[in-house]
Amino acid sequence: MRQARPDILLDIVRLVGRADRILLMCHVDPDGDAIGAILGLGLALARLNKHVVTASPNRVPSRYSFLPGVEGITTHPAGDFDLFISLDCSDAQRLKHLHALVTAANRSLLINIDHHVTNVNFGQINWVDAQAAATAEMIIQLVDALGVTIDQELALPLLTGIVTDTRGFHTPNTGAPQLQAASRLIDAGVSLADVMERTLNVRPYTMIRLWGKMLDTAILEGRIVWAVLTPQMQVAGLSYENGDGGFINLLTSTREADVGVLFHDKGNGHVEVGFRSKPGISIAEVALRLGGGGHAQAAGCTLNGSLVEVQQTVLAVLREAISDQKPIYG
Ligand code: AMP
Ligand code: MN
Ligand code: MN
Repeated sequence: MRQARPDILLDIVRLVGRADRILLMCHVDPDGDAIGAILGLGLALARLNKHVVTASPNRVPSRYSFLPGVEGITTHPAGDFDLFISLDCSDAQRLKHLHALVTAANRSLLINIDHHVTNVNFGQINWVDAQAAATAEMIIQLVDALGVTIDQELALPLLTGIVTDTRGFHTPNTGAPQLQAASRLIDAGVSLADVMERTLNVRPYTMIRLWGKMLDTAILEGRIVWAVLTPQMQVAGLSYENGDGGFINLLTSTREADVGVLFHDKGNGHVEVGFRSKPGISIAEVALRLGGGGHAQAAGCTLNGSLVEVQQTVLAVLREAISDQKPIYG
């Protein structure tokens, strides 16, 4: 398996060794990797008898409730901490109100562990590995460095992180290291089929109905296919907070398109924009330029303005950015 720079890992192990109360945090609208990374590392630190609190800026989606410990993830952590660790988050803004806890602390030490190519190194210690397909994959190395054994309990959240961020080993950043990491976690006793089924293959009927509405808005314009999600597209019984349920991946499977974009009008003057691209096309730079971030094939940003304004701005920047890029599978 690929090794992290040992000096950074040793620094992190040393800082963890000195700390008693540790807050683990992840990005807003947490996904399987964010949740898997905080739960996996949280468990390892608890085994070292650290006082650990796991936190997310907002609610964890219910499909992750099969993960033990998820009920302990809080949105408003209380108490003092002597070490803060941010996981799977590319900038401090995506920690939302949790970042204020870091700045408010007297001797605030923030370790930033992440795999986004757009990470802005906002910690005092920054371990950013854009080659890793998931933050959970990096956590395996850290848990090893901490000397904690990866058993079934620890392997489950970590495999969840790898499976969800690679969309079931579909993404082009899935290679031998990711499969070796997964193989090790399966060896520890986790069922791959179980994790795949629970995280990637199920969604409520209400979400299927919402997908129908979103599909109806899909427009193919040159090499870009885009769709919208608005507050008016409510489905009875479905919380608007549930997001798109992974719809953007379906959208981007459009053969004629190289990029898929979903404009999610939050109804409060903000529009969340999700990007997916075909292998060979990178949209990370576009997202970063628009104030967001992400990976080559999956990125996003949030813009202020009306849906129409944001669409015009984003599509113009995107068209220009992909004009000299070609997909691998044309
Ligand atoms: P999503 O489309 O929400 O699944 O996000 C795809 C990728 O883009 C993830 O890796 C996110 O971390 C990243 N991303 C999405 N929105 C933002 C944002 N507003 N700022 C920075 N990164 C983002
Ligand atoms: Mn994530
Ligand atoms: Mn991730």
